[in-house]
Amino acid sequence: MDLYEYQAKHLFGKHGVPVTAGEVCSTADAAREATRKIGSAVVVKAQVKVGGRGKAGGVKLADTPDDAADKAAAILGMDIKGHTVYRVLVTEASDIAEEYYVSFLLDRANRAFLAMASVAGGVDIEEVAATRPDELAMIRVDALDGCTPEKAQEIVEAAGFPEAAKAQIARILEQLWRVLVEEDATLVEVNPLVLTPTGTVLALDGKVTLDDNAHYRHASHADFVDRDNTDPIELRAKEFDLNYVKLHGEVGIVGNGAGLVMSTLDVVAYAGEEFGGIKPANFLDIGGGASAGVMANGLDIVLNDPEVEAVFVNVFGGITSCDAVADGIVQAMTMLAERGEPVTKPIVCRIDGNNAVEGRRILTEAEHDLIELVDTMDDAARRVAELAAARKAGKQG
Ligand code: GDP
Ligand code: MN
Repeated sequence: MDLYEYQAKHLFGKHGVPVTAGEVCSTADAAREATRKIGSAVVVKAQVKVGGRGKAGGVKLADTPDDAADKAAAILGMDIKGHTVYRVLVTEASDIAEEYYVSFLLDRANRAFLAMASVAGGVDIEEVAATRPDELAMIRVDALDGCTPEKAQEIVEAAGFPEAAKAQIARILEQLWRVLVEEDATLVEVNPLVLTPTGTVLALDGKVTLDDNAHYRHASHADFVDRDNTDPIELRAKEFDLNYVKLHGEVGIVGNGAGLVMSTLDVVAYAGEEFGGIKPANFLDIGGGASAGVMANGLDIVLNDPEVEAVFVNVFGGITSCDAVADGIVQAMTMLAERGEPVTKPIVCRIDGNNAVEGRRILTEAEHDLIELVDTMDDAARRVAELAAARKAGKQG
């Protein structure tokens, strides 16, 4: 998960990296109030997860609280490279003598981390790497040894930072390394890291990518989850602990096992071509040992997607036998009706594998109007695409 600048700076502050005081605001009035509290000139900065905000007009200096409110009003709602600005960071403005660049990132190919540092900061670092590679120091950091004081020294020497700033930057590198390790990040970047005319080094921007696989170790990181910009159905799926990815199509997919679900997406997309380009609406893996409750949650998620016209439940019984899955589907229909969300969209089921005969019998005997049983995956994909296309046409016509 990539963090917003204000979130990255929150982690910087927690580990001692010097940042300016600031407040994240979602209205112009809040920006005025924040500026009043800060009591100096401020920078109003668009909070979007994309670089180059400065060039796009998303970073503006403001001298007074009213000026900050005007700048915030102009920036809020802006579209920066396809990202809508919902919040601005209002932070104390700094005077800048020089702008530098520092980062740590995971270097998978070399099974290590890489420190990058440059005296040419404040600009696109890819451009520095391409046009002035001698101004970009790249130093390997061993994952176990980490950024020791000696390593930090080696980085500042290689980058050629001015004498007066070296000790401060070395310390900041050690602190940034702690952000990387203790917060389980795969990237920590500061651009620009500035030297002020009075000789202080400050992180004026921050980028952090957290390792989602370590999310469970950090209860506090749950606050970083972006509610404004995440699909509401994906958020709901997360609450159910389901492995769901929203796509754009008409056929809801529920399957057990990531491989099976992936191939289901393929067969549905292929079958859908014949029906005017019907496509899968999502990826949803309910896992190996899916109970009736999990099946109900899965169907709930998929059926709640307004784009979905029909659902394909594709199950291959392995550890879980098909009769349990079939029971799950039947119970899920009842559970959803009891939750006040009765199913109204057709559901095509293909059930195979362990105890499939019994599973099919359960579904057949349930005699549910909306459930249709199809023997093979290809035929099921065709049928569900046909049903989805018919419902879609019905709506349009
Ligand atoms: P980015 O364009 O998305 O990387 O946003 P940054 O936070 O890096 O800001 C872009 C540029 O705005 C920086 O490189 C600085 O030149 C300038 N800037 C940001 N904060 C300040 C500040 O406090 N004072 C001054 N004078 N300039 C700033
Ligand atoms: Mn920047």
